Amino acid sequence: MEVTLQNLTKKFPGRDKKKHEDVIAVNDFTFEIPDGKLIGLLGPSGCGKSTTLNLISGLLKPTEGRIFFGEEDVTDLPPENRGIGLVFQNYALYPHLTVKQNILFPLENLKGKDKLSKAQMLEKAYEAARLVQIDDLMDRKPGELSGGQQQRVAIARALVKRPKVLLLDEPLSNLDARLRLQTREEIRRIQRETKITTIFVTHDQEEAMSISDMIVVMKEGVVQQIDKPQKVYDDPKNLFVAKFLGTPPVNVFTGQIKDQKLYIGNDCVMEAKGVKDQAVYVGIRPEGFCPRADGTLCCILQGVEVMGRDISVISANEASLNTTVRSIVGTENKADMEKILSMSEGRITNDAVVKFALAPHKVFIFQKETEERIYL
Ligand code: ATP
Repeated sequence: MEVTLQNLTKKFPGRDKKKHEDVIAVNDFTFEIPDGKLIGLLGPSGCGKSTTLNLISGLLKPTEGRIFFGEEDVTDLPPENRGIGLVFQNYALYPHLTVKQNILFPLENLKGKDKLSKAQMLEKAYEAARLVQIDDLMDRKPGELSGGQQQRVAIARALVKRPKVLLLDEPLSNLDARLRLQTREEIRRIQRETKITTIFVTHDQEEAMSISDMIVVMKEGVVQQIDKPQKVYDDPKNLFVAKFLGTPPVNVFTGQIKDQKLYIGNDCVMEAKGVKDQAVYVGIRPEGFCPRADGTLCCILQGVEVMGRDISVISANEASLNTTVRSIVGTENKADMEKILSMSEGRITNDAVVKFALAPHKVFIFQKETEERIYL
């Protein structure tokens, strides 16, 4: 089922004592979510992710804009008539009911022509339970399950009516790191098997990157970028998006365009053909640095962390907005790497200079005022 959001806006009345302005939780959001895809809604706390999800579910009414499921305008339909499955962070299972009864619950409420026989209901409940691999736990109560198992029950309950759209609001937040990883892979598998259009809310960029077909990055109610995960990482539209995605995060410097060249401090690091002279921000992904004797960006070496396959070089640069410049370098260039390693073994002094060549496709330039990307 294709979901279309058309100029969707949600304002909440300002109730703060000093500030009476409305809170614009979602601001003019337009997007056509393709059928059968998994969309990650990503952004920091308070950026409007849950509000967007609640508008799609019908739990909230938009102030402006329309929502379509396929051709049907569902804006004025109550949640129960939209054919959605909802899963929240706190599994919200009925504690006094067994797993089986919890999953059966949405089916028992079906009325009229949709009403099912007991046998049909059981068949559907077991089918959903098998999908999330909890069919051997059907007679337990939620209190007798692990967090991950409880979340699977919640997902089975959301799937049992075969919803047209599955809405997941931070479904992994209550799970420990290992279970998070496992459950997110499960969600991906289930989504691929069922091909239900799914919208997944998270503030965790790695989670969104790993399972989404497309990512929507939001900030203060406004959509910043919608693209495939790798594209958002490789080609961020503004500084906010560049900073929000990636661990370790992008390194940000103040820079200057002068005579069609990019300077960081006094170092001329790259050509910037066609860009007029101006002050800029420069974002460099950690993997964009290559230590080389003839490198153009000079930094002061502060330390080296060897982490199995990767080597992380920590350095300082006066133009850096981060306290340290963190780069992840490969070991291909043996001579230069060995020099850095031997430097870091001795006492690192203020003049331990490390020079980096920069990979141009890992360097992003942003306008200083708007923080929008300047494309080269
Ligand atoms: P989180 O990750 O913390 O859940 P979020 O991105 O889901 O955040 P929302 O819950 O959608 O953010 O909130 C967006 C903005 O709208 C916030 O500023 C929030 O304070 C405000 N807001 C949300 N619900 C209401 C409400 N019922 N009344 C007033 N303001 C609200």
